[in-house]
Amino acid sequence: MKDNVSVVISAYNEGESINELHKELNKVMKELPLKEYELIFVDDGSSDDTYAKCQKLQAKDSHVKIVHLKRNFGHEIAMTAGMDYAKGDAVIFMDADLQHPPFYIKDMVKYWQEGCEIVLTKRVENRATSKFYDFCAASFYKILNFLSDTKIPAKTPDFRLIDRSYIEVLKKFNEHDRLFRGLLSWAMPNDKVKVIDFVAPERFAGTSKYNFRKSLALALNSIVQFSTKPLRLSIYLGLITAFISGILGLYVIIEHFILRHPTPGYATIMTTVIFIGSVQLIVLGIIGEYIGKIHMEVKKRPLYIAEYKTKEIKNAKKDI
Ligand code: UDP
Ligand code: MG
Repeated sequence: MKDNVSVVISAYNEGESINELHKELNKVMKELPLKEYELIFVDDGSSDDTYAKCQKLQAKDSHVKIVHLKRNFGHEIAMTAGMDYAKGDAVIFMDADLQHPPFYIKDMVKYWQEGCEIVLTKRVENRATSKFYDFCAASFYKILNFLSDTKIPAKTPDFRLIDRSYIEVLKKFNEHDRLFRGLLSWAMPNDKVKVIDFVAPERFAGTSKYNFRKSLALALNSIVQFSTKPLRLSIYLGLITAFISGILGLYVIIEHFILRHPTPGYATIMTTVIFIGSVQLIVLGIIGEYIGKIHMEVKKRPLYIAEYKTKEIKNAKKDI
């Protein structure tokens, strides 16, 4: 049962790349020793012609399936939706902008057929990002891995193959705020994992959908998702400030009662009050982040609204 693969491609406003990606994917997939394969294009509520282009491809190629999200739900949810509809014995995830070259799928499938259950990729070079971006990303992973018990390796993008057995595990996670690679790290076995090095080229067309603000939000969300250590660190912060104010208090007592110097009041008091106030606000903010996440997750809202289309349009399943 290692001859049926699904490829899940999440696309948001990637109309300019879709045809080229399909061409390259087709070339690679046809050469593989597989009985069946499907190419699931997840249109993440694009406002350009991504959906129309996917439909045109589907008219020509029965391997193409479309998951059409009714609005933009974000990359992580788009991958989840694609995974939910995938039927293959293994699922390969990739981006639509050709930064995940289809060429590497050959090796992924080969290792899987030889017995690996998860084949990851490691981006040894990213031709699309600046040194500053790479530095920020590396620092984020260091902080995340310091705070979290689930270790998430850096430079391993969402371009990967996952065996059906692990897909079923991943489908059990139902949190809204999700970092797919983190969930996979949580489920990662100690063996049967292979890593393929690759060089990520520039995007084929268009610009990155992750600006600095979105990347920062994803980074902060990921920390809250995978770690409660910031709450513990708040306690340490409180203890440190208590210690500092204790020393200050002692200094004031010695100055006033032993050395008999007039205590310099106003400036010291203001500084101390502002300092303690800021620490309290930081700690409240951290607690608020966690409470906010609980508030959103307990509602158990659906993850997405999707329409699933196969070429046999009459039998199409419609989930809304
Ligand atoms: N993407 C998506 N939904 C979004 C944002 C991005 O499906 O809301 C897709 C996007 O079309 C691409 C992949 O996720 O195929 C990665 O996005 P992008 O290339 O912009 O990120 P980068 O490679 O710059 O980190
Ligand atoms: Mg990209």
